[in-house]
Amino acid sequence: MARYELATHRLFIDAPLEVGERIPLEPDAFNRLAHVLRMGDGARLLVFNGQQGEFEAQFRMTGKKSAALEVVTLVRAQTGQGRIHLAFAPLKAARLDYMVQKAVEMGAASLQPVRTRRTQISGLRREKLLAHAIEAAEQCGILALPEIRPETALDSFLATREVNNTLAFFDEGAEPGDPVAALRKAAIPGALSLLIGPEGGFEEAERVMISREKSVIRLSLGPRILRADTAAVAALTVAQVAMGDIG
Ligand code: SAH
Repeated sequence: MARYELATHRLFIDAPLEVGERIPLEPDAFNRLAHVLRMGDGARLLVFNGQQGEFEAQFRMTGKKSAALEVVTLVRAQTGQGRIHLAFAPLKAARLDYMVQKAVEMGAASLQPVRTRRTQISGLRREKLLAHAIEAAEQCGILALPEIRPETALDSFLATREVNNTLAFFDEGAEPGDPVAALRKAAIPGALSLLIGPEGGFEEAERVMISREKSVIRLSLGPRILRADTAAVAALTVAQVAMGDIG
C-alpha cells in the first residue's frame, strides 16, 4: 500500500483538480491555511476532492487576504469506495460526530441514518454529517468520502435495499457467536450493510420485522452491551476483517 505522509496538511476541495490549475480558496479555507496553519506563499500541502486522488499543491498568495492553490502533481491515485455500508440510528450530537468520523476512518462506503422506535433524535442535517466525514478524511488520509444518504425510517430502509445487498443486523439480543466466521460463511457476493441500533436498542417488533427480510444475518458483538458508537466501530472492524480490506 502506498504509505502517505500524515505530517503534511491535507485539504478537501470541492472542485475539479487538474495539474497546473490554480484554484482560488474560499475565505474560510484561506483563513484556516493562512492564519490557523500559518502557511506562507509557496507552502506545500496535499489536496483531494474525493474523486480524482490526492495531489500535491502549493499555497499561493494572490492578495493580502486571498490565496489560491496551485495543483502541482498527482501523488496518490483515487481509491475505491468499498462495499461495506453503515446504517445507524441517529445518536445525540457528540456521539454521532464520533460515529461518523470513525465510520469514515474504517472505510464505510455510505452512511445511512435509520430512525427506529427508540431513536431519540431525528432530522439530522446532511451537511453536518458531511463536514464530520470530511474532517476525518482530511486527518486520516482517506480519499473516498462515504455517500451520506438521507435519513429514513426503518421500514423504508428495509423496503428499499439494493437487490443483492446483504444486511448484517447487529442485535444486542442475539445469541453469542463468531461474527467474522458467520460473515465469511455467508460468502457475501455484493454490498454489505451494517445496522446499528440507538441508545435504547431495538424493540422486539423491530427484531421480528428485520429478521423477516431476506439476506439478513443477525450478529452478536459478544457478551457485553456496547454503546452504539462503540458498536459501529466494532461492527465495521468485524466486516473489514471478514470481507473487506483488513487482513
Ligand atoms: N445503552 C447503550 C447501548 C445500546 S445498544 C447506549 O447508550 O448506546 C446500541 C446498539 O449497539 C444495539 O442496538 C446494537 O445495534 C449494537 N450493539 C451493542 N452491543 C451489541 C452486542 N453485544 N452485539 C450486537 N450488537 C450490539
